[in-house]
Amino acid sequence: MNEWQILSQLPQETWARILLQQDPIYPKIPTADVEYYIRQGLQAGLDAASQWDLRQIYQAIENQQVRLCTKHSEGPCGIHAEYRSVQGSSSSDREIRLYEQTLQEIRSAAELYKIPLHMQQIRDLHLAHEFYHYLEDTNQVDVYKTSRSVSFMVFHLFRQTRAIKSLHEIAAHTFAQHLCQTTYHPLQLDWLLLKQQDEGQAKVFFDTCLSSVGIEKR
Ligand SMILES: [Zn+2]
Repeated sequence: MNEWQILSQLPQETWARILLQQDPIYPKIPTADVEYYIRQGLQAGLDAASQWDLRQIYQAIENQQVRLCTKHSEGPCGIHAEYRSVQGSSSSDREIRLYEQTLQEIRSAAELYKIPLHMQQIRDLHLAHEFYHYLEDTNQVDVYKTSRSVSFMVFHLFRQTRAIKSLHEIAAHTFAQHLCQTTYHPLQLDWLLLKQQDEGQAKVFFDTCLSSVGIEKR
Protein backbone atom coordinates (compact mmCIF):
# COMPACT_ATOMS: atom_id res chain seq x y z
CA MET A 1 0.00 0.00 0.00
CA ASN A 2 1.42 3.42 -0.90
CA GLU A 3 1.23 6.54 1.28
CA TRP A 4 -1.81 7.94 -0.57
CA GLN A 5 -3.73 4.70 0.00
CA ILE A 6 -2.74 4.66 3.68
CA LEU A 7 -3.99 8.25 4.11
CA SER A 8 -7.18 7.37 2.20
CA GLN A 9 -7.99 4.76 4.81
CA LEU A 10 -7.91 7.20 7.73
CA PRO A 11 -11.37 7.81 9.18
CA GLN A 12 -12.94 11.27 8.99
CA GLU A 13 -12.59 11.57 12.77
CA THR A 14 -8.81 11.46 12.39
CA TRP A 15 -8.78 14.31 9.86
CA ALA A 16 -11.12 16.32 12.09
CA ARG A 17 -8.79 15.70 15.04
CA ILE A 18 -5.77 16.90 13.03
CA LEU A 19 -7.60 20.13 12.15
CA LEU A 20 -8.77 20.61 15.73
CA GLN A 21 -5.23 20.10 17.08
CA GLN A 22 -4.04 22.98 14.90
CA ASP A 23 -6.52 25.38 16.47
CA PRO A 24 -4.95 27.96 18.82
CA ILE A 25 -7.74 27.19 21.31
CA TYR A 26 -7.02 23.44 21.28
CA PRO A 27 -4.87 23.43 24.46
CA LYS A 28 -7.82 25.00 26.31
CA ILE A 29 -10.30 22.29 25.31
CA PRO A 30 -10.90 19.84 28.17
CA THR A 31 -9.75 16.36 27.04
CA ALA A 32 -13.23 14.99 27.71
CA ASP A 33 -14.73 17.47 25.23
CA VAL A 34 -12.42 16.81 22.26
CA GLU A 35 -14.64 14.04 20.87
CA TYR A 36 -17.68 16.33 21.24
CA TYR A 37 -16.10 19.04 19.06
CA ILE A 38 -14.97 16.50 16.47
CA ARG A 39 -18.56 15.22 16.23
CA GLN A 40 -19.97 18.76 16.04
CA GLY A 41 -17.68 19.77 13.18
CA LEU A 42 -18.37 16.59 11.19
CA GLN A 43 -22.12 16.79 11.83
CA ALA A 44 -22.33 20.41 10.66
CA GLY A 45 -20.72 19.41 7.35
CA LEU A 46 -22.97 16.36 6.96
CA ASP A 47 -26.12 18.37 7.76
CA ALA A 48 -25.28 20.92 5.06
CA ALA A 49 -24.37 18.13 2.62
CA SER A 50 -27.84 16.64 3.07
CA GLN A 51 -29.33 19.94 1.79
CA TRP A 52 -27.09 20.53 -1.22
CA ASP A 53 -25.55 18.81 -4.22
CA LEU A 54 -22.99 19.98 -6.78
CA ARG A 55 -25.66 20.72 -9.40
CA GLN A 56 -27.39 23.09 -6.94
CA ILE A 57 -24.09 24.86 -6.26
CA TYR A 58 -23.57 25.49 -9.98
CA GLN A 59 -27.20 26.63 -10.13
CA ALA A 60 -26.58 29.12 -7.29
CA ILE A 61 -23.61 30.48 -9.27
CA GLU A 62 -25.73 30.72 -12.41
CA ASN A 63 -28.38 32.60 -10.41
CA GLN A 64 -25.62 35.01 -9.32
CA GLN A 65 -26.05 34.29 -5.62
CA VAL A 66 -22.28 34.00 -5.55
CA ARG A 67 -19.69 34.61 -8.27
CA LEU A 68 -17.19 31.96 -9.34
CA CYS A 69 -13.88 33.47 -10.40
CA THR A 70 -11.04 31.37 -11.77
CA LYS A 71 -7.68 33.08 -11.34
CA HIS A 72 -4.97 31.82 -13.65
CA SER A 73 -2.30 32.25 -11.04
CA GLU A 74 -1.07 30.74 -7.80
CA GLY A 75 -3.03 31.60 -4.68
CA PRO A 76 -1.51 34.09 -2.20
CA CYS A 77 0.27 32.46 0.77
CA GLY A 78 -0.12 29.02 -0.78
CA ILE A 79 -3.93 28.92 -0.65
CA HIS A 80 -5.76 26.90 -3.29
CA ALA A 81 -9.07 28.77 -3.21
CA GLU A 82 -10.89 31.32 -1.10
CA TYR A 83 -14.29 32.87 -0.39
CA ARG A 84 -14.49 36.64 -0.22
CA SER A 85 -17.33 38.96 0.61
CA VAL A 86 -17.65 42.65 1.25
CA GLN A 87 -19.60 43.29 4.45
CA GLY A 88 -23.13 44.57 3.94
CA SER A 89 -22.81 44.22 0.22
CA SER A 90 -25.05 42.69 -2.41
CA SER A 91 -24.66 39.17 -3.77
CA SER A 92 -22.49 40.44 -6.62
CA ASP A 93 -19.74 41.12 -4.09
CA ARG A 94 -19.66 37.54 -2.88
CA GLU A 95 -17.00 35.61 -4.68
CA ILE A 96 -15.39 32.19 -4.72
CA ARG A 97 -11.90 32.26 -6.17
CA LEU A 98 -10.18 29.20 -7.51
CA TYR A 99 -6.44 29.52 -8.15
CA GLU A 100 -6.10 27.42 -11.27
CA GLN A 101 -2.31 27.26 -11.28
CA THR A 102 -2.23 25.79 -7.77
CA LEU A 103 -4.99 23.32 -8.67
CA GLN A 104 -3.00 22.31 -11.77
CA GLU A 105 0.04 21.74 -9.54
CA ILE A 106 -2.02 19.33 -7.43
CA ARG A 107 -3.01 17.53 -10.62
CA SER A 108 0.64 17.35 -11.78
CA ALA A 109 1.71 15.99 -8.38
CA ALA A 110 -1.01 13.34 -8.65
CA GLU A 111 0.27 12.37 -12.09
CA LEU A 112 3.85 12.21 -10.83
CA TYR A 113 2.88 9.79 -8.03
CA LYS A 114 0.45 7.87 -10.27
CA ILE A 115 -2.63 8.83 -8.25
CA PRO A 116 -5.80 8.90 -10.38
CA LEU A 117 -7.21 12.40 -9.81
CA HIS A 118 -9.33 14.31 -12.28
CA MET A 119 -9.00 18.08 -12.65
CA GLN A 120 -12.77 18.54 -12.49
CA GLN A 121 -12.95 16.76 -9.15
CA ILE A 122 -10.09 18.87 -7.76
CA ARG A 123 -11.98 22.01 -8.86
CA ASP A 124 -15.31 20.77 -7.49
CA LEU A 125 -13.79 19.89 -4.11
CA HIS A 126 -12.41 23.40 -3.71
CA LEU A 127 -15.59 24.98 -5.04
CA ALA A 128 -17.75 23.01 -2.57
CA HIS A 129 -15.42 23.86 0.33
CA GLU A 130 -15.62 27.59 -0.41
CA PHE A 131 -19.36 27.34 -1.04
CA TYR A 132 -19.72 26.09 2.54
CA HIS A 133 -18.03 29.32 3.68
CA TYR A 134 -20.52 31.23 1.52
CA LEU A 135 -23.34 29.39 3.35
CA GLU A 136 -21.77 30.45 6.65
CA ASP A 137 -21.38 34.03 5.51
CA THR A 138 -25.03 34.22 4.49
CA ASN A 139 -26.14 32.60 7.77
CA GLN A 140 -27.52 29.50 6.10
CA VAL A 141 -25.33 27.30 8.31
CA ASP A 142 -23.60 28.06 11.60
CA VAL A 143 -21.59 25.46 13.47
CA TYR A 144 -21.07 27.95 16.33
CA LYS A 145 -24.78 28.15 17.04
CA THR A 146 -24.97 24.39 17.41
CA SER A 147 -21.76 24.01 19.45
CA ARG A 148 -20.71 25.02 22.95
CA SER A 149 -17.96 27.62 23.23
CA VAL A 150 -14.79 26.77 25.13
CA SER A 151 -14.65 28.45 28.49
CA PHE A 152 -11.41 28.82 30.49
CA MET A 153 -9.82 30.87 33.23
CA VAL A 154 -7.10 33.42 32.46
CA PHE A 155 -4.47 33.85 35.23
CA HIS A 156 -7.06 32.32 37.63
CA LEU A 157 -8.71 35.75 37.58
CA PHE A 158 -11.36 35.94 34.91
CA ARG A 159 -13.20 33.61 32.61
CA GLN A 160 -12.93 33.81 28.83
CA THR A 161 -15.20 32.16 26.31
CA ARG A 162 -13.93 31.41 22.82
CA ALA A 163 -15.34 29.77 19.73
CA ILE A 164 -13.22 27.18 17.91
CA LYS A 165 -12.38 28.41 14.40
CA SER A 166 -11.24 25.02 13.11
CA LEU A 167 -14.84 23.75 13.41
CA HIS A 168 -15.53 25.76 10.24
CA GLU A 169 -12.77 23.93 8.40
CA ILE A 170 -13.81 20.49 9.67
CA ALA A 171 -17.36 21.20 8.49
CA ALA A 172 -16.30 22.66 5.12
CA HIS A 173 -14.01 19.72 4.31
CA THR A 174 -16.70 17.22 5.33
CA PHE A 175 -19.27 19.05 3.20
CA ALA A 176 -16.95 19.06 0.17
CA GLN A 177 -15.95 15.41 0.52
CA HIS A 178 -19.57 14.27 0.72
CA LEU A 179 -20.72 16.38 -2.19
CA CYS A 180 -17.89 15.17 -4.41
CA GLN A 181 -18.06 11.62 -2.98
CA THR A 182 -14.30 11.24 -2.93
CA THR A 183 -12.65 8.19 -1.41
CA TYR A 184 -9.96 10.48 0.01
CA HIS A 185 -10.09 13.43 2.41
CA PRO A 186 -9.60 16.88 0.82
CA LEU A 187 -6.61 17.52 3.10
CA GLN A 188 -4.77 14.79 1.22
CA LEU A 189 -4.46 17.23 -1.67
CA ASP A 190 -2.41 19.49 0.62
CA TRP A 191 -0.16 16.56 1.42
CA LEU A 192 0.20 15.72 -2.28
CA LEU A 193 1.27 19.25 -3.15
CA LEU A 194 3.66 19.30 -0.21
CA LYS A 195 5.18 16.00 -1.30
CA GLN A 196 6.15 17.53 -4.61
CA GLN A 197 7.39 20.77 -3.08
CA ASP A 198 9.03 19.65 0.16
CA GLU A 199 9.46 15.94 0.79
CA GLY A 200 10.58 16.54 4.41
CA GLN A 201 7.47 18.54 5.31
CA ALA A 202 5.28 15.98 3.57
CA LYS A 203 6.79 13.29 5.78
CA VAL A 204 6.04 15.35 8.90
CA PHE A 205 2.44 15.72 7.65
CA PHE A 206 2.17 11.97 7.00
CA ASP A 207 3.65 11.02 10.39
CA THR A 208 1.32 13.47 12.17
CA CYS A 209 -1.67 11.85 10.47
CA LEU A 210 -0.57 8.36 11.49
CA SER A 211 0.18 9.36 15.08
CA SER A 212 -3.39 10.70 15.29
CA VAL A 213 -4.64 7.26 14.29
CA GLY A 214 -2.86 5.93 17.37
CA ILE A 215 -5.00 8.27 19.47
CA GLU A 216 -8.10 7.10 17.57
CA LYS A 217 -7.43 3.46 18.41
CA ARG A 218 -6.76 4.08 22.10
ZN1 LIG B 1 -11.97 26.82 4.52
